[in-house]
Amino acid sequence: MTSKSGMRQRIVSSNGTTVVTPSDEGRKTDHLLDKHDQYEFGGPGGVVAIMTGFPTLMYYLWICLVFYDGQLVRPDSVDDIQPFLQRMWAHISKDASPNAYAWKVYSGLIAYELLLAWIMPGYMQEGLPVPSLGYKTLMYRCNATFCVYATMITAAVLHISGIFRMTEIIDNFGHLMTVAMIVGFGVSFGMYFLTIATGNQIRMSGNFVYDVFMGACLNPRVGPIDLKMWLEVRIPWVIVFFMSVSGACKQYEQFGYVTPNMAFMCLATWLYLNACAKGEECIPQTWDMFHEKWGFLVIFWNFAGVPFSYIYSVVYMASHDPKKYHFSTPTYVALFTTLLLAYFVWDTSMSQKSRFKMQTQGTLTYRKTFPQLPWGTLKNPSFIQTAHGNRLLTDGWWRYSRKPNYVADWIMSLTWGLVIGTCTPIPYFYSVFFIVVLIHRCGRDFERCAVKYGKDWERYCSIVKYKFIPGIY
Ligand code: NDP
Repeated sequence: MTSKSGMRQRIVSSNGTTVVTPSDEGRKTDHLLDKHDQYEFGGPGGVVAIMTGFPTLMYYLWICLVFYDGQLVRPDSVDDIQPFLQRMWAHISKDASPNAYAWKVYSGLIAYELLLAWIMPGYMQEGLPVPSLGYKTLMYRCNATFCVYATMITAAVLHISGIFRMTEIIDNFGHLMTVAMIVGFGVSFGMYFLTIATGNQIRMSGNFVYDVFMGACLNPRVGPIDLKMWLEVRIPWVIVFFMSVSGACKQYEQFGYVTPNMAFMCLATWLYLNACAKGEECIPQTWDMFHEKWGFLVIFWNFAGVPFSYIYSVVYMASHDPKKYHFSTPTYVALFTTLLLAYFVWDTSMSQKSRFKMQTQGTLTYRKTFPQLPWGTLKNPSFIQTAHGNRLLTDGWWRYSRKPNYVADWIMSLTWGLVIGTCTPIPYFYSVFFIVVLIHRCGRDFERCAVKYGKDWERYCSIVKYKFIPGIY
């Protein structure tokens, strides 16, 4: 059933709710945006460099951190290049081999998370109308909260019973990282071929390697599981959190106590994991879900990149004397306060925008998950009605800048490095890499919005002037 209200159209979805779809003009721009028109990431050459460069960089940083006391080593001279590479390879082949134990642990986690996602009850959230599916909406079963708590209980039982000690995660970091990389590559290529075979590809460039990198399918699903959303939460942030727990257990075994720095990482990673789980119903409204395809870019990064390159501080702390990174009490207070404030802005800004979109769609309901922070939902917020049909929020955190969530997220990433002080530069990789990602992602997003909303986007930018930090940039 369809009726016109102003420029937008209201349709009754298959789920029985009324959702809003774009105007005719909006449909034209959506159609344009669903076609490949230009290469991103430097085109085929750029993506080959990324696909080979990142795994290499991850190995290099891990070797420096674990075997060279966190110092960025390099060949002493031109003559030393070959011996240097041989030394690097020796570390990889011995301490990062994809051994049977690592396969068992990593594939066990994947299988368990898939099983939980399949069987656990969850909150049903309707996604945004998908242009390539004729504005059909997809339902998302949001059961990450149950799954995360079930995983935590299972991990506690395995650890206490001695079946699988948490310390084994960090002890097998190199082996697990290689297995994760193989899975990342395997799933990226496998999904590409599967999508082509089933004819579900969208926005293809025609260049094989570029399409593997960007992905072929938009909404990969198995039974009740949306694989893209599942992978975004259930693997990377679960590993990152348990890696921190593993580091804490390791410290406890070695020193008899857990340092405030390690406790900080447990809190920081739990906050991130929990935020993704408790606010999972907000994820279908993010750009990763409604626009980004499921390719190497997302798959590799979630299987291997995030879990094995964001928590170098934990790996360092698990094997180094706590005296090296002990701070004064005021410094600890400043560190924890910065994390919690940044988390507050990140959590509430994401929820303000997502819930605003749900209000617009008529799909907003409230979940009882913990913690629900004040100012997460705006009452009667100001917005711009675009000719496309969508609305752009100009209230709450979104009145101060166009990416308040990116700024807060980046500050959190910086604290994950600051927690180690100046012992080693390697844990700062996350914040350095992340700022590049966010600036690049912001550019891609704004270009897309400029096409999608035209003059309305210009109007929005004249009202919300700053990209990141009000008054500065
Ligand atoms: P956003 O949540 O900013 O989503 C961007 C989209 O939201 C735009 O394309 C537009 O889509 C819509 N939008 C933008 N401004 C407004 C507005 N004022 N009102 C209404 N809609 C608006 O970004 P992402 O989805 O990229 O990121 C989500 C989070 O994930 C961020 O916090 C980011 O930091 C985090 N992230 C973390 C990563 C990590 O590795 N730690 C990696 C990547 C992201 P449209 O109008 O078409 O609906």
